[in-house]
Parts: sequence; structure tokens; C-alpha cells
Amino acid sequence: MNEPALDRTPEALLQRLTGIVGERHVLTAAADLGAYCNDWRGRYHGQALCVVRPGTTAEVVALVAACAQAGAAMVPQGGNTGLVGGGVPCSAESLAQHQPQVLISLQRLRNIREIDTANHTITVDAGCTLQQVQEAAAEAGLLFPLAIASQGTATIGGNLSTNAGGVQVLRYGNMRELTLGLEVVLADGRVWDGLRGLRKDNTGYDLKQLFIGAEGTLGLITAAVLKLHPRPQAQLTAWLALPDPQTAVALLGRLRQHFGECVSAFEIINRAALELVLKHIPGTHSPLPVVHDWQLLLQLDAASAAEGISLADALSELLAAEQAAGRLLDAVLAQSATQAAALWKLRESISEAQKKEGFSIKHDVSVPISRIAEFIARADAQLTRNYPGVRIACFGHLGDGNLHYNLSRPLAEDNRAFIAATAEVNRLVHDLVHELGGSISAEHGLGQLKREEILRYKSPLEIELMRSIKAALDPQGLMNPGKLLSLHETTNNPLQLPDQLL
Ligand SMILES: Cc1cc2nc3c(=O)[nH]c(=O)nc-3n(C[C@H](O)[C@H](O)[C@H](O)COP(=O)(O)OP(=O)(O)OC[C@H]3O[C@@H](n4cnc5c(N)ncnc54)[C@H](O)[C@@H]3O)c2cc1C
Repeated sequence: MNEPALDRTPEALLQRLTGIVGERHVLTAAADLGAYCNDWRGRYHGQALCVVRPGTTAEVVALVAACAQAGAAMVPQGGNTGLVGGGVPCSAESLAQHQPQVLISLQRLRNIREIDTANHTITVDAGCTLQQVQEAAAEAGLLFPLAIASQGTATIGGNLSTNAGGVQVLRYGNMRELTLGLEVVLADGRVWDGLRGLRKDNTGYDLKQLFIGAEGTLGLITAAVLKLHPRPQAQLTAWLALPDPQTAVALLGRLRQHFGECVSAFEIINRAALELVLKHIPGTHSPLPVVHDWQLLLQLDAASAAEGISLADALSELLAAEQAAGRLLDAVLAQSATQAAALWKLRESISEAQKKEGFSIKHDVSVPISRIAEFIARADAQLTRNYPGVRIACFGHLGDGNLHYNLSRPLAEDNRAFIAATAEVNRLVHDLVHELGGSISAEHGLGQLKREEILRYKSPLEIELMRSIKAALDPQGLMNPGKLLSLHETTNNPLQLPDQLL
């Protein structure tokens, strides 16, 4: 006897999903979906058939299998703090076949599975927040060093899928470098158990690296083995004012020469970015008597209290020499953890302050550190020439060559006209980044925001290889469609067109 054909209607799928996680964990009411379907910046608003909230890997497996059978798209989501529209569904019109989209929230997968102090590893569920993992590591006397301003909400699954960076990449690396193993539910519902805690394993392709930074387009990460580090016993935090970015880059070189791996953060903040924080974030004030054109937030980590004392002496000496040579305008060293936290608050509140100020054209770019000053000088000059009155909030992880380069005009009316020129402004900034050997997405990913833009900057071969990997792991195209890869089949790269066609 023939099997009855599977009922592939949305109603039947909803019923099957409810059977797996229970009614409480399948949300369909518009009021419940809002928080999941709109992104942090308020820029992307998608439609989902429902939000499902599995509580175990086994439930994720069953959900994925049910969605795959019904031909429904799956949108993995962690804390929904992503900045490129990767974790929210696409608008219904933008998907070719108007397929239903099921948003799978991993937030209920929140167990710390194991801490192996001898191996310096922690095994965690993908829905753990970054902060939860930092705290679990601290309780065991160790450090999980990834640090980003959204860490109270952002999840490990989201951090992995965006290959998150943050403020300590300079010393400890980004998520790729902090991960030893993964557990992933593949697009057809099979589980790849790659939860290995090995620092050496040369047994073929490094599959975990495919899923890191894939923005949920290749599978659903359910758990990870992460590297832990010794906890620094002392930290020095300093706020410096410098004449220009070129001097900042030279200072970074000297600091690394003197202090080597102890330099754990080197953040640059320009005048406009700091002024936005002072305007919008209550309780903040400039650490120096005046706001300078360029400030730096520097952190050094010491393995012991004694090393901390000698680092402090050496740092004071070095800064005095910099000041005497006219390369340092002013400086303040935090004298307590509270003072250090106040300095960090200034840096970590920039995104929040910008959100309060209003819309801006944002860029998350990287160039080789040696070319940062050239990038800033040339981009600033071109933008102020083409868009008089433009306000440039430039800040970020100078030590990683990663800048957040965000543009707006202070007056609402002017700003509206300026925002209308986003494509033109992006072209100017991204072409310059490309010319300098950089990347148009340093740490936030491509999502919906840059999935077309990237076609201009990656070679057709790279795009073709990425599409081949996607086709091998997700032949039905169900995992997070419309993210990272363009929905259009063609990979025409305008940079490759013959001159007469440009
Ligand atoms: C104030 C603020 C500051 C920030 N600072 C930084 C920073 O310094 N550095 C930085 O790198 N980022 C930063 N971000 C961006 C964001 O917090 C990171 O990208 C973070 O890693 C996203 O985690 P999430 O859990 O919120 O992911 P989500 O936003 O939920 O999802 C992000 C992407 O990952 C996918 N995804 C999520 N979970 C899974 C899973 N389990 N399996 C497969 N795919 C999954 C989603 O589909 C989506 O494509 C900041 C954001 C804010 C709001």
C-alpha cells in the first residue's frame, strides 16, 4: 500500500512543530512575534509562520526534520543583537517561492555542559549568553575572553555564526580562534557531533570552520567546545588623547614591542563618537578636561599582581616619553576597577548613543593596520568634499585594523537627504577599503545588509566556492535563505567586467 502523501500545508507543519516542543513554545500571535522578527537596529522586519523554542538538541533535530519535510525555510536566532539582518526572517516578497519561514530561537538551550579546567575548555549549549559563559569560566578561575557590548543578550550560537570579534581580539583572537569543537544539526536533521576539545587534530578538513561565520546558512549550531585562558591577575586601563590615527598606529607598535601579548585592547574613538555618548548616555563624562579629536582606550593584562605593578611603572615611563616627544596630548590611568569600568562604558555605549541620535550610514570595515591612517584620511577627505557637513563617527578596534565608520548629518532634514545617498556613500567607502586590501565586513557579517554588496568585492571564484558549499550542505536551500548569499543566481562581479561595459 502507498504511504499517504505528507500534508505540506502551513497548518499541518504548525501542528507537527507543536507536537515536538509543546504549544507553549510555538508562538504565532503577532504581538509575540514582534521581538523576534524585527532586528536590533529596527531596519529589517520579516514575517515568520511561527517562532519555535526548542529546549534540547533532540527537539532541534525533530524540528529541522519536520521543516525540511515540509519545505519550510528555517531562520536560526540567538539573542537577536546581530547588526546585518541575519537573524530575522526576510520579508515575504523577497523570497523567491514565498516559502513559509520558521524562526528557531535557540535561547532555551542554556546549559553549561562541562568545564574541563585541565584542558582549559568549556562545553556549552548554543543558547547560553556570552556573559553566562564568561561568568561560568570566571567561577572556575579561568577566562573566556570574547567581550562585546551586547554580551548580556548575545548568545554563543550567534557569536559563532557571526564569528564575533569585539575588544580583545588583539590578544585572544575572534570566535574562530576560540573554538575547538561544535555540535551542528544539519539541514536534513542529521547531527554532526564535532564536540572535540583538541588543539591538534589533523584528520582532514576542519569542518567546524565552515559553520563559524556561516550566519546560520549551513546548519544550526547547538553546542560548542570553547577555549579558556588563564585569568589576568591585574589589568591596566588608560585613556589617551593623540593628535592623529597615524600616531596611534605607531604607538601600538611601540606598546607591542614593550609589552608583547600583555596588550589586550587598543580602541580608537574620534571626537564625534565620544560627543554622541556624552550627549545621550546618562552619567558619562569626558575623562580628560577637553574632548580631543582622537582618543584611545588601552588595556594591558598582567599574569600576576607583581607583574601588574611593573607594567604600570613601565607604562607610565613610556607615556611620559611619548608626551615629551609631542606624540601624546594627554592621558589618564584608571586607579580602580570602578574607574576602568567608567572608561569602558564610554567605549561600549557608542552603538547605543548612535541609536538614540537617529539613522546613520554604518560601515564595519577592516584594512591592514598599516593602512588605517591612510583609509581615515582619504575617506574623510572624499566624504567632506562630496557631502559638506557630514558627521563622521569613527571608532573601533584599531589593534585589529577594524573600524566602525558611521556617517550622518546632525540636522534631521539634512540627514534624510544624506541617508538617501546610502548606495553612493557605500560605494565610496567600500571601494576605498577594497583598494587598500580590506574587507567590507570585519565582524558583523553580511546578513541581508551586504549580501549583494559583497558580489562587487569577492571574486566570482570565491562566490562560486561558497555556493558549492551551500549546495552540498543545504541542497534544498532551507537554511536561512536570503542571508549572506545573494538570492540572485548570477555572481557577476562588476570589477571583472571589460572596461567598455563599466
Ligand atoms: C550594542 C551592540 C554592540 C555590539 N558589539 C559587537 C562587537 O564588538 N563585535 C561583534 O562582533 N559584534 C558586535 N555586535 C553584534 C552582535 O552582538 C554579534 O553579531 C553577536 O555575535 C550576535 O549574537 P546573537 O546571539 O544576538 O545572534 P543573532 O542576532 O540572533 O543572530 C546572528 C546570526 O547568527 C545566526 N545564528 C544565531 N544563532 C545560531 C545558531 N545557534 N546556529 C546557527 N546560526 C545561528 C542567525 O541566523 C544570524 O544570521 C554588537 C551588537 C550590539 C547590539
